[in-house]
Amino acid sequence: MNRDDFATLAESFEQLPTQEIISWAFREYSPDLVMSTAFNPGGIVLMHLLKQQGYELPVFYIDTGLLFPEVHQLRVTLEQTFGIRFERVLPALSLEEQAKRFGERLWERDADTCCWLRKVLPLQHYLRGKRAWLTAIRAEQTETRAKAKLIEWDERYQVVKVNPLLRWSEDQIWDYIERHRLPYNPLHTQGYPSVGCTPCTSAIKNGEHLRAGRWRGKAKVECGIHVPIWQKTFS
Ligand code: SF4
Repeated sequence: MNRDDFATLAESFEQLPTQEIISWAFREYSPDLVMSTAFNPGGIVLMHLLKQQGYELPVFYIDTGLLFPEVHQLRVTLEQTFGIRFERVLPALSLEEQAKRFGERLWERDADTCCWLRKVLPLQHYLRGKRAWLTAIRAEQTETRAKAKLIEWDERYQVVKVNPLLRWSEDQIWDYIERHRLPYNPLHTQGYPSVGCTPCTSAIKNGEHLRAGRWRGKAKVECGIHVPIWQKTFS
C-alpha cells in the first residue's frame, strides 16, 4: 500500500468500532504485529481488548532504567492478569555508560538526547523487520498526537502504525478500566495522570494539562517515539 492507500484506509476506519480496527490489524499483520506499552491506562485498555478478542501478540516495553518501581510492579500484575510475557527492550548504553560518554544526569541538560538514546534508538532497533506496530496513543494527549491517524505508514520505523484508541477520551479510558476492574498504576491517583521516567515526571496541580508533569519546565512534550523531535547520529 502507498501513502494514499493508508490515508483512505484511515478515513474508513473512522466509522469502525475499536474492536474491528484491532481485528483488521490482527488479520492483516499477525504474526508480524507487535504492541508497545508504557503501562499507562490506554495500554491496559488495549491489552484487555486484545485479550477479550482472543488475540495474542508480542507486547514490549522500553526499560530506560529510570522507570518508577510502581511501573515494574504493575507489569508483574498485568502479566498475571492477562497472561502476557512482556518483551523488555533495553537501550544500548547502560546508565553508567551514558554518564561516562554524555555526562551525569543527561536528562537535566539535554532531555532530547537522553530520550533519543534511551527510547527512540532502542525502539528503532526493536521494530527492525516488523511489519506493524499497535499503539495506545490518543489524539487528545498532545497537539502533535492530534495529527496522528488510526492507521498510517511510519516512515521513520518503516512499519505500519495502528492507533485504535486514537479517538478515545480520558474519561472513556477510565470508565473502561473501572467497568472491567482492571489494574492500573497507583500513581495515577496521586496526581500523576501520565507516568514516564522518574527524573522527568512530576505530579500535576488542579487544572493543569494531563501531561503537564512530563518534562516540567521544559518546552518538550514528546519523548520522540511517536512524534519526531529531531534526528541525531552519534559516532
Ligand atoms: S524521559 Fe527523561 S530520563 Fe527518560 S529517557 Fe527521556 S530524558 Fe531520559
